Amino acid sequence: MIFYKSTNRLISSLEDEVNFETALFRGIAPDDGLYMPTKIPKFRFEEIKEMKNSNYSDIAFKVLNVFLKNQISEQHLKFIVRDSYDFEIPFEKLNHNTSIVRLDRGPTLSFKDFAGRFMARVMKVLKKNDEKITILVATSGDTGGAIGSSFKGLDNIEVVILYPKDEVTDFQKKQMNDLGCNIKTFEINGKFDDCQLMVKKAFNDYDLINLNLTSANSINIGRILPQIVYYFYSFLNCSYDYLPLIFSVPSGNFGNSLGCEIARRMGLPVKKIILAVNENDEFPRFLKKGYYNKISPSKACLSNAMNVGNPSNLARYFDLYGGCIDKNGLVNKMPDLEEMRKNIFSASVTDKETIKTMQDLFSQKKIIVEPHGAVGLKALEKYRTNSNDDCNAIVLETAAPQKFSNSVESILNINLNMNKIENSKANCLVQNDYNDFKIKLIDLQNK
Ligand SMILES: *Cc1c(COP(=O)(O)O)cnc(C)c1O
Repeated sequence: MIFYKSTNRLISSLEDEVNFETALFRGIAPDDGLYMPTKIPKFRFEEIKEMKNSNYSDIAFKVLNVFLKNQISEQHLKFIVRDSYDFEIPFEKLNHNTSIVRLDRGPTLSFKDFAGRFMARVMKVLKKNDEKITILVATSGDTGGAIGSSFKGLDNIEVVILYPKDEVTDFQKKQMNDLGCNIKTFEINGKFDDCQLMVKKAFNDYDLINLNLTSANSINIGRILPQIVYYFYSFLNCSYDYLPLIFSVPSGNFGNSLGCEIARRMGLPVKKIILAVNENDEFPRFLKKGYYNKISPSKACLSNAMNVGNPSNLARYFDLYGGCIDKNGLVNKMPDLEEMRKNIFSASVTDKETIKTMQDLFSQKKIIVEPHGAVGLKALEKYRTNSNDDCNAIVLETAAPQKFSNSVESILNINLNMNKIENSKANCLVQNDYNDFKIKLIDLQNK
């Protein structure tokens, strides 16, 4: 059985190893660290080859079962993955050595559906029936919709979403605000960073103890595990003769790419992981120079789901490479940089480059990508120029162009023929002030 430990254990006295269920419902460890598996299970190459021609949910079962054995019965897990993954996952060939995998076909049109749908079903199976929990989510746009839609209608689970007023699209707002039932939305008159800060404060607030708060952001290990699966699936569908692949991952809090790092450690042949970031370039600078400075406040770029100046999952990367960094971005122990550089490349892509990439792809191939996917494509190009590595690569498209219709339509000068989006209203409008949030949260619970 696999246990989970905190990434902060080097600097705190907490030595506890907990099971998956505890890590899932706690979200964050009591010492403020993030949970990591104490060991990463490995497949033999033959076992990976045997998954060829399996459908997505069968691969998901095999990959996730090695982490969840003795926690979730095989029967439950089989049902959960079949029920979660009932949408298509198309590949699109761009040229002889590059493909796109579109992870944007779930119900809320971003890759966050992969983790959200799995997490909701797992929580439903593992939660004690009469226990009430409240899931707090800060969102830069896509997590809120994916988690809300996944948890809608579940008994005894309340979801509270905090989104920044001016940083999410009307489409995203409507997706969240229209859910209703057990899904409540708070529109914060602030930035995404402010939303995240409020959520963190709430976790440490004794007055809210009765709410049984937990997190569905990618600090929760339950969000990370399902994101390992599509790397296996993509490899099995795109690799020629099982040769290693490059993956380029549009990255914000680094939860998505961490799935790739874990897949590689499980034995998947990955040549290089590209962490593609926008102008929030704290990580590529760290990888190059060897010292870490978070960016605060984060820069607002077109790829707004990646406007993160201090990625929370960096703590897990540091841990995997033998280092330790706290949630404020303070390095307590340096990771093995040489080893990191061997496996990971990271590049920052400007808004100008993002726009040009979208336009070139559209005019040359009539293929439409939205800004996040474009950052992934451009970072791959930078890697190839830098390294002369022309090995096959897969770029992840993390959201559907419709979700960012305003920027896509104006950048490409096209019409996506979407219905007009009416204004939608959050349950609560909140000032950029923790106490205002807290009072309204408690009010809402008492209604
Ligand atoms: C959340 C999100 C990202 C960033 O993913 P991380 O796991 O936080 O690195 C990238 N693109 C889109 C469209 C997203 O919604």
